[in-house]
Amino acid sequence: MIEVKNLKKHYGDIKAVDGVSFSCPDGQITGLLGPNGAGKTTTLRIIAGLIKPLSGTAIVDGLDASQHSIQVRRVLGMQSDMIGVYPRLTAREQLRYYGHFYDLKGKALEDRINSLVRELKMEEFADRRAEGFSRGQRQKIVIGRALIHDPHNIIMDEPTNGLDVMAARDARQTIRTFKEQGRCVLFSTHYMDEAEHLCDHIAIIVQGRIAAFGTPSDLMSRTDKDNLEDAFVVLAGSAEGLLHSEVKEQ
Ligand code: ATP
Repeated sequence: MIEVKNLKKHYGDIKAVDGVSFSCPDGQITGLLGPNGAGKTTTLRIIAGLIKPLSGTAIVDGLDASQHSIQVRRVLGMQSDMIGVYPRLTAREQLRYYGHFYDLKGKALEDRINSLVRELKMEEFADRRAEGFSRGQRQKIVIGRALIHDPHNIIMDEPTNGLDVMAARDARQTIRTFKEQGRCVLFSTHYMDEAEHLCDHIAIIVQGRIAAFGTPSDLMSRTDKDNLEDAFVVLAGSAEGLLHSEVKEQ
């Protein structure tokens, strides 16, 4: 379970995250949506304990991510494009390398690698060096690395970005499987259709603040729209309008 409470992170004058609160229950998929620069990646990186907030807390399975980042990393996996793959290592070697970070070794580690190679359909390229890998192949390595220690909580930053139709379907199916396994899943996406069909709850973030939170059908009925994209445009647009008028008044 992930709980974010009044989280703030500023970079000089830029309020990347400015008082964000929401929670993601176990066995459910929570989507984080927002325009470019809204604060999604920053929020995810704070939850993963990669950066510290200015104030507020991100709690993962009862642990404060900024105070117990090592323990949090044991119960959480983060997939992000920002962390590259090693071109000289094979896909399987990269999984093994990450497994060592979590003290996995011997048969337990090899069994885990084999099952990830199977689940993520990496058999064809698992023993090839990553140099020259396609975006989808690199993405699978990044997802596999995030899962090597079988974390209960999974964070994904735009997991289907740039993937072809089949690879994106596979990634969405993987996310559904996480839910069936009872894991807590939080992911960001710019694909509204994907969010509408996958997510149990959606947090819309605009200029570092939560503009709306609810189930996809809540957000659609609140805006009287029959698809999430139209609902998003209304909710994000009106939040931007409100923030502009606040700035003008100051
Ligand atoms: P996108 O959808 O484009 O990936 P995002 O919602 O993930 O955007 P963030 O990456 O969280 O947005 O960025 C939020 C804001 O914080 C942006 O204005 C960004 O430029 C700024 N920001 C993020 N990290 C830093 C940093 N290390 N230094 C300065 N500004 C930063």
